[in-house]
Parts: sequence; C-alpha cells; structure tokens
Amino acid sequence: MKKKDFLIAGAVLLLAGVLTLVLRLSGGDPGGAVQVKIDGKVVGTYALVEEQAVPFDTDYGHNLLVIRDGKAHMEEADCPDHYCMEQGEIEKTGETLVCLPHKLVVEVVSGESSDVDVVAK
Ligand SMILES: [Zn+2]
Repeated sequence: MKKKDFLIAGAVLLLAGVLTLVLRLSGGDPGGAVQVKIDGKVVGTYALVEEQAVPFDTDYGHNLLVIRDGKAHMEEADCPDHYCMEQGEIEKTGETLVCLPHKLVVEVVSGESSDVDVVAK
C-alpha cells in the first residue's frame, strides 16, 4: 500500500467513526421517556425504563397509558374512535400516540435523565 492510499484509508475510517458518533448523538436510538400533553400542556414525563400504568382522567375523557419493556401504548381509552389504542407501541424518539378526541398526545423524548420528571398524581 502506498503512503497516499494509507492516508485515504485512515481518513475514511476517521470519517466513519465521526459519523457513527453523530448518529448516536442525534437520535434514531430508543427514547428515554414519554412526555404527555393534554390540550397542548405538558402534564407529565414518564421514564420508559420503569414499568407503569398511568391513568389520565380529564374533562375530555379517560386514557390509560401503559409502559412496559421500554415501550408505551394506550391500554384503555373511552374516546369514540379508539384510534389511539390502535396506534400500537412507541419507543423511538419522536414517535407519538395521539388521542384526538381527548386532545392527548404522548411523545417519546430523548432520555437525558436530568430532563425526566416523574410526576405522581
Ligand atoms: Zn383515543
């Protein structure tokens, strides 16, 4: 191998390493928590590592959010369309569960633990 080829190979490896690091930092990885908003207001953030069932009872209706195995899904809802329950499980940063009739949005947010406030009701 010539010296020039060696330098190019080194540069490619370095670039690959940097890219990997950037991809890791910029999401696409499993999220750390879900943030719940009702009518545009954040009502709580819940860590995905903790198994929990969180009921939301508002003027709009009832929802039961369940977190299990690092994923969140809507276990119960008394909305007319049940669309939120059909959306399945979310686990990656940016994924959402939406219950339109109840103005409820669950979004996976990245998991810096300092951002995670577990709100007990
Ligand atoms: Zn719903």
